[in-house]
Amino acid sequence: MKILVLNSGSSSIKFRLFQAEDWCVVASGAVTRIGEPSASLELSWTDADGTEAQRDDAAGIASHHDGIQRIVATLQDTGALGGLEELRAVGHRVVHGGEAFHAPTLVDDDVIASIRQVIPLAPLHNPANLDGILVARELFPGVPQVAVFDTAFHQTMPRTAYRYAIPGYLYREHHVRRYGFHGTSHAYVAKQAADMLGRPLSQCNLITLHLGNGASATAIRDGASVDTSMGMTPLEGLVMGSRCGDIDPAVHFYLCRHLGFDNDTLDDLLNRQSGLLGLCGVNDMREVHRLTEEGNEDAELAVGITCHRLKKYIGAYAALLGRVDALVFTGGIGENDTEMRACACGDLESLGIELDGPANAGLIGRAGVVSKADSRVSVFVVPTDEELEIGRQALAAVL
Ligand code: ADP
Repeated sequence: MKILVLNSGSSSIKFRLFQAEDWCVVASGAVTRIGEPSASLELSWTDADGTEAQRDDAAGIASHHDGIQRIVATLQDTGALGGLEELRAVGHRVVHGGEAFHAPTLVDDDVIASIRQVIPLAPLHNPANLDGILVARELFPGVPQVAVFDTAFHQTMPRTAYRYAIPGYLYREHHVRRYGFHGTSHAYVAKQAADMLGRPLSQCNLITLHLGNGASATAIRDGASVDTSMGMTPLEGLVMGSRCGDIDPAVHFYLCRHLGFDNDTLDDLLNRQSGLLGLCGVNDMREVHRLTEEGNEDAELAVGITCHRLKKYIGAYAALLGRVDALVFTGGIGENDTEMRACACGDLESLGIELDGPANAGLIGRAGVVSKADSRVSVFVVPTDEELEIGRQALAAVL
């Protein structure tokens, strides 16, 4: 019995095929640059004799339909997938579920209509996610399709956390509120952290920090999200690769009135030209550190602002939760950047957070504990695995 996970983006489709009994990865890969002459399919799989193999297919893939068709044909060609009857379910990542979806959901016509309805809230992501679902439904008739939403984990937030302090009709009639994102990742690392604490997730209070190109912090009380830093869109909150995170909305009026910016220019500025990129010219944290080592002051400031913001959220969420059992770092930066972890956790003894310097410096890209043995709050590093979480949730939805 196998589970296929599809993450369908605007010009790419990432996929992973799992053996459902033990969650072994049978094959994984991606179709990239869909619609361009350089479109390609990369696939890694484990041969029958256990050896790893790879294939890189230069192929004219003009659409998501072509892409998914090619993925399945290649999976069958390599023997990773015998026939469609082996597929127990297909799990689809869907970025925005609005208020309609609190859990992984078996796809039917009504679900498709609801995903379509929230396209205005995620115009860049939901159409591509939906494309993947529609094509998979057509290509795998009879195989259950499950939509797993990035927003679902945060649907437990109380109104006090998700409402903005603007007139109520904007929420009631136009759905303006905090939704939060990265929910699949926060849910996955929270479960791992509960295992590391040795107690049920429902008894854990956690602050989870997903720090990748996009970044978000979540406050989790008794296993449920009670606040998260991203808002109606993934722009709010922490400093990110090219997104500004929190900013006074009046900056927008100022830029419009005094510099003649329009909506598209502002959108581009705040989503694609800001964050680390805006502060020091590069959006990759490794590059930022390299510049810092060369004495680049803008890069140093970028690290400082990123860390300052992170600390503010840790403090705010500690206040919100009262008791914190663990702080959890994940995402490319959270898993690998020992300096950012040390900076974010520095001088937080009053909150019960005491990092173990050598343990932190020695833990890169794998799970472990980086707090001192007597730290009141444990600090964990947990590599995220959104595909595995989507696969597990998809299977749970069809059992
Ligand atoms: P995405 O949000 O695209 O999934 P990732 O979770 O892969 O992003 O994280 C990408 C970020 O992680 C980049 O800023 C990258 O520089 C950073 N990163 C990856 N490895 C390291 C490392 N060893 N040290 C510091 N930052 C790292």
